[in-house]
Amino acid sequence: MYQNTLICPLPCVAGRIASFIFYYLQENLMSNRREFIVQLSLGTGVLVAGQAMAQGAALAETDPQAVALGYKADTTKVDDKKFPKHAAAQQCSNCALFQGKAGDKAGGCPLFAGKQVAANGWCSAWAKKA
Ligand code: SF4
Repeated sequence: MYQNTLICPLPCVAGRIASFIFYYLQENLMSNRREFIVQLSLGTGVLVAGQAMAQGAALAETDPQAVALGYKADTTKVDDKKFPKHAAAQQCSNCALFQGKAGDKAGGCPLFAGKQVAANGWCSAWAKKA
């Protein structure tokens, strides 16, 4: 069975950012309330940006690995002549390797580390979720 080889950088990124913010606030001891609010807003923005980066960009169908596995962001666009085992009901969201939650539009896949596959996508490694 496949193993999850994706090493999520989120805890590292979030941890470093949180440490930086803590250190920064401590060093500057927030001279007044306005400064505190500005610093808090900046910190929140950095955390959100860090989280977005950690989740990864959408997997492009032109990505070499995606091409090799016949990935399509829309399972209805799969060439059934080229992939005769493909069925319309098969999609990333019901694949055993999909790491997104139910209802997510996209999620991780260990075959495409650092990228997000579409919930409605498909590739030739599709395996039925148990
Ligand atoms: Fe990953 Fe499964 Fe989607 Fe293929 S079908 S990209 S293995 S989640």
